[in-house]
Amino acid sequence: MTELSTTRSEALFSEAQHLMPGGVSSPVRAFKSVGGVPRFIERGEGPYLVDVDGNRYIDYVLSFGPLLLGHAPEAVTRAVAEQAAKGSSYGAPSPLEVDLAETIQGIYPSMERLRFVNSGTEGAMSAVRAARAYTGRDKVVKFDGHYHGHADLLLAKAGSGVATLGLPDSPGVPAAVTADTLVVPFNDEATVRELFEREGEHIAAVLVEPIAGNMGLVRPREGFLAFLREITEAHGALLVFDEVMVGFRVHPGGAQALYGVTPDVTNLGKVIGGGLPVGAYGGRAEVMRLMAPDGPVYQAGTLSGNPLAMAAGLALLREAQSSDAWQLAADAARQTAEAIQSAADAAGVPVQTDAVGAMFGFFLNEQPVTDYASAATSDTATFARLHKLLLDRGVYLPPSPFEACFTSSAHTPEVVAEAAEAFRSAFAAL
Ligand SMILES: *Cc1c(COP(=O)(O)O)cnc(C)c1O
Repeated sequence: MTELSTTRSEALFSEAQHLMPGGVSSPVRAFKSVGGVPRFIERGEGPYLVDVDGNRYIDYVLSFGPLLLGHAPEAVTRAVAEQAAKGSSYGAPSPLEVDLAETIQGIYPSMERLRFVNSGTEGAMSAVRAARAYTGRDKVVKFDGHYHGHADLLLAKAGSGVATLGLPDSPGVPAAVTADTLVVPFNDEATVRELFEREGEHIAAVLVEPIAGNMGLVRPREGFLAFLREITEAHGALLVFDEVMVGFRVHPGGAQALYGVTPDVTNLGKVIGGGLPVGAYGGRAEVMRLMAPDGPVYQAGTLSGNPLAMAAGLALLREAQSSDAWQLAADAARQTAEAIQSAADAAGVPVQTDAVGAMFGFFLNEQPVTDYASAATSDTATFARLHKLLLDRGVYLPPSPFEACFTSSAHTPEVVAEAAEAFRSAFAAL
């Protein structure tokens, strides 16, 4: 296997490092946890990324989730071009927001009122603000290894397996800001129960990725989400599903339809923007009524409800709803996970694979992964070697062992078969 030429990516990367921290606009893109040169991308085509050196990769990142139809699908490209010709931002409401809000609500009936923002980070931050205002309480529960964007108060995780006061993950986040963030292990009913017994009357909300996707793909244990629904209700706290990643991916109706559990507030992003920057949070009308200008809770955005993003999201969702796109993407996820499992089995490499709808994940681990602590015992050094072997074979995986992988309707059985061959060869070469 000859190594691909990466001359142009290397040159751009060294130039970029003089201009931007790590040479990138978001840390994981710098390939720190897998080593090697991040590929600078020239274009995306359906299931493929093409880098500036002309190398083509089957893309299992898909911009970390949004691209359910693959790169540059005709419907989205056309909608964005048509909208761009009519203006990119108005600073006034447009019919596109109404259309997209109606479309989202049709899929997520629990979002009785919703508001568009520019990112999942903003949505999570605003959802917490709404929950605190509604309950008149300050404490927020999150799960170890769950990511809700980079707002200060949510950049906290537990240091041990027991409930602890949140300590900031990042310099620059004052301890006071995360002091009301309580972090517990995912899938651990007993710890959540103890926490509510002790602090229940102060807890405004429980935030959860209903299927965790930011520590690798980790499903909730049977009944765990229903348990969260019950205990939050019993203590007058809100249940917030952060479906930014899993929305429209794990099921056409999102995780709440898949598990039949209805949260009070939902946070969305990624897919609903069709590859443009977007987020949306929403939920029960009596909670959302508190947001300005209906209520006193402030939250705003210059580019919120941006017409280009609305047009892209609408085009993607309409196309997905009127075709078998979701099923095609889900088939590709399952087949790819199976291909990884059999390639690893053949090479004698311990692996745990899983797929839920149009996303999948794998851990190089002998044990099943149920939470952050078990995810963290995965073989990260081997993952880094595998990542490079796969790049050389034309397959682009997330540049971290703790990211989920994504498929699109453009990942046809032929594309997956091509990837399967690369997995077989890469695992054999480990
Ligand atoms: C990606 C993600 C976010 C953050 O969204 P951004 O648009 O990157 O700010 C929040 N929550 C979850 C679950 C995510 O996967």
